[in-house]
Amino acid sequence: MEKLVLSYSDKYLDYNFGPWHPFKPYREKRLMELLSKHGLLNTYVDVVEPEPASDEDLMLVHTRDYIEYVKKASETGLGYLDYGDTPAFKGIHEAAAVRVGGTLLVTKLVHEGRYAHGFNPGGGFHHAKPSEAAGFCVYNDIAIAVRWLRKRGVRRVAVVDVDVHHADGTQEVLNGEDVLLISTHGYDGNFYPGTGWIDEDGVGPGKGLKVNVPLPPRTGDDVYSMVVDEVIRPIIERYSPEFIILQFGVDAHAGDELGILNLTTASYIKVLNTVHEIAHKYADGRLVLTGGGGYNVWNTVKTWFLAVVLLTNPEMINKYGDYMDKEQTTTPARYYEEALYIIDAIKERFGL
Ligand SMILES: [Zn+2]
Ligand SMILES: [Zn+2]
Repeated sequence: MEKLVLSYSDKYLDYNFGPWHPFKPYREKRLMELLSKHGLLNTYVDVVEPEPASDEDLMLVHTRDYIEYVKKASETGLGYLDYGDTPAFKGIHEAAAVRVGGTLLVTKLVHEGRYAHGFNPGGGFHHAKPSEAAGFCVYNDIAIAVRWLRKRGVRRVAVVDVDVHHADGTQEVLNGEDVLLISTHGYDGNFYPGTGWIDEDGVGPGKGLKVNVPLPPRTGDDVYSMVVDEVIRPIIERYSPEFIILQFGVDAHAGDELGILNLTTASYIKVLNTVHEIAHKYADGRLVLTGGGGYNVWNTVKTWFLAVVLLTNPEMINKYGDYMDKEQTTTPARYYEEALYIIDAIKERFGL
């Protein structure tokens, strides 16, 4: 049995774009309630309460001008921070900064060796760019955590992002750095944000370390299992990371309100178990999970709950069979062929 450190604050509820917006800030609170109901808090999970990230921490990634712009919008609460997905509201700066603080807090505690694994369900804002909000994301907590670690001498940081959307903001920040980023996402030439094709593989010292896996619509567990075994596992093992961050957005789950993929909890369990095993093999266990997308609240909460069980006491997992999807999904024939072609092209490009 291992203990997990989880960051949570009721201030996460303040990250609220309004009742009609798909991002539901109460997902994290639901997770806490479920963990509590099953007696996992304090026994398996230590909860820590984050402070908002400082401007200095935010400036590891974001420009001063952008932070000032968010602070102004935070005072007036008017307009949008981007082209129309991310409305401003009063207090948006503080609400976004405390979620970054949550990712930084568990990253620090894992870096110090106080815990092997950390989880900030309130993090995972992978679309935010140095001077730009996008796709419900204001500050990129993942890229900030990577830069924070690298400043402290942790060189080989691997980020795995399983959200249904391409990790475009994280990629833009880290593109020229020798940080490994693997993003699996839905891709049909149209789906948000539209980037993340195979040929975006990094520049300079980052060349060959940005791995994009664009999956056709309705990709199921059959194809995802191959992606985990044939792409994700060998690429992280070759990199031999000292620290791993896993963006665990659940919008690639079948039936997500905004997603186009067809994964079940089986895919999420498989990718987590694989990354977890690699973390123990190469990185002394050092693994931080963040949340991310996930617009069907129950699917998201149950998948995060299963992740907590798998990271702390995997033998107990069968007790929670009701939270696992009963049947695995298969990819429709025409997309299956396309997916095989994409996997082969990735293997060729990266010499696998
Ligand atoms: Zn997403
Ligand atoms: Zn472990």
